[in-house]
Amino acid sequence: MRWLHHDRIFYVSCFHEIMAVVALRNVVKTYGDVTALHGLDFETKEGEFFVLLGPSGAGKTTTLKVIAGLEDIDSGEVVFDGKVVNTVPTNLRPVGMAFESYALYPHFTVFENIANPLRAPGKTYTETEIKDRVQKMAKMLKIEHLLTRHPGELSGGQKQRVSLGRTMVREPSVYLLDEPLTHVDAKIRFDLRIQFHRLEELQQSTTVYVTHDYVEALSLGDRIGIIDQGRIVQIGEPKQIYYHPRNIFVAHLVGQPSINLMNAQLDADDHNAHLHVPQGGFSIPLSPERFHALKQVNAPRDLIVGIRPRDLMTFTTTPETATAQVKSDVFEPFGSFGLLSILARDIYLKLLTDPEQEVEPDIPLGLNFREDRLIFFDPTTENNLLWSEN
Ligand code: ADP
Ligand code: MG
Repeated sequence: MRWLHHDRIFYVSCFHEIMAVVALRNVVKTYGDVTALHGLDFETKEGEFFVLLGPSGAGKTTTLKVIAGLEDIDSGEVVFDGKVVNTVPTNLRPVGMAFESYALYPHFTVFENIANPLRAPGKTYTETEIKDRVQKMAKMLKIEHLLTRHPGELSGGQKQRVSLGRTMVREPSVYLLDEPLTHVDAKIRFDLRIQFHRLEELQQSTTVYVTHDYVEALSLGDRIGIIDQGRIVQIGEPKQIYYHPRNIFVAHLVGQPSINLMNAQLDADDHNAHLHVPQGGFSIPLSPERFHALKQVNAPRDLIVGIRPRDLMTFTTTPETATAQVKSDVFEPFGSFGLLSILARDIYLKLLTDPEQEVEPDIPLGLNFREDRLIFFDPTTENNLLWSEN
C-alpha cells in the first residue's frame, strides 16, 4: 500500500485519493486477565459512516485503539485496504482520532490547539491555509468565539469540540471518533449531529464512530455494528437493527422507552393460533403467516415476546372488545409524546400516547397489539427466532 512504504509527506499529500476500508478479523485483545476483544470481526465499506454501538465496557475504545495502532493485539488481523497492518506504527496509519479524554495543550489557545496538526513536521500549509481551515472547523463546531481562549477556560463540552476540530482539521482517510458528543449539551449535540450529516469531509472518508447512545447511532450510521463483551452481535442498517434485532440484548439497547418483554406460550388448534400471556391474562391472535413462520423454525412453545411502546394502542370506549383489558397507571407528558404505563393483571407495559390527552390512573382501557411488530425470542438463547441476515 502506498502510504505504508513512503514517508508522512507522501501520504499527506495524496490523502484525498485514499479511501480506506478498515477491517478487523478475529481480533483478540487482552489486558492481563481481562479479555477486552473476543475475536472481533467487522469490515467497513469505502467512505462509510460506521457506528459501533454498545454499553460501557463493551470494548469500543479498545477497538478504535487497535485500529489506530495504539494497542498491540494478541491475535487476529487489522486490515487497511486489504493489507494487514498489525506491525505498522500509528504514525503511518492514515487515521485521525478524537478520544473521550481530550488531551489538549493547556498553554495553547483553542486556535493553536486546532492548528497544531497542520504545523507538524513535514506539513507545508501556509499561514493563510491554516487560518482558513481552523476557521472552517470552528464554525462547523460552533466554537468560533472561543478561538483565543485556553483549554482551562472551557467547559467539558467545549473542550470536546476543540478536540474534534483538531482531529478533523487534518482530513485523514479514516476518522476514529470515540463518543465525541457525550459531554456536549443536548441542543448542541443535536446541531452537531446535523452538521455531521452535511460535512463533506466525513462523507468523503471512512468514519468509525463509537457511541453508547442509540439515537446517535440511528441518526448517523450508514450501518451500525452492535458490540457486547468484545464481540460483534449484529451489523446492519439502522432500520434492520431497530426492526429486526438479532437478540434481546440488541432489542433492549435500541429504542427509548425500551421494548416491552413478556413470557408467552404458543397455542394453536386447527384453525387459530394464539400467543397466550399468562401473567397478563390475555391472548394475542396470531396471523397464519406468523404461526407458520414460527413453526418452520421449530419455535418452542414457551417463548419471550417483545413489542415496542409505539406498537401498542389503548382506547377507553368498549374496552371489552380489545385483545386485553388493562388499567392505566402512570402517565408522563413529554411534550412530543406521552408515555403511559399500564397494568395488565400482573405485568406492566409501556406505550406511547398523545401527550395532550392526559390519562388518570386506574382507568379501564382496552389494549391492542400491532401483531406484525411482535418480536419472538427463544427464552434460552434470547435470540430472535425469526431473525435472518437480510
Ligand atoms: P468501552 O469503550 O466500550 O467502554 P473499553 O474498550 O474501554 O470499553 O474496555 C473494554 C474492557 O477492557 C473493559 O472491561 C475495560 O475495563 C478493559 N480495559 C480497557 N482498557 C484497559 C487497560 N488499559 N487495562 C486493563 N483493562 C482495560
Ligand atoms: Mg470507551
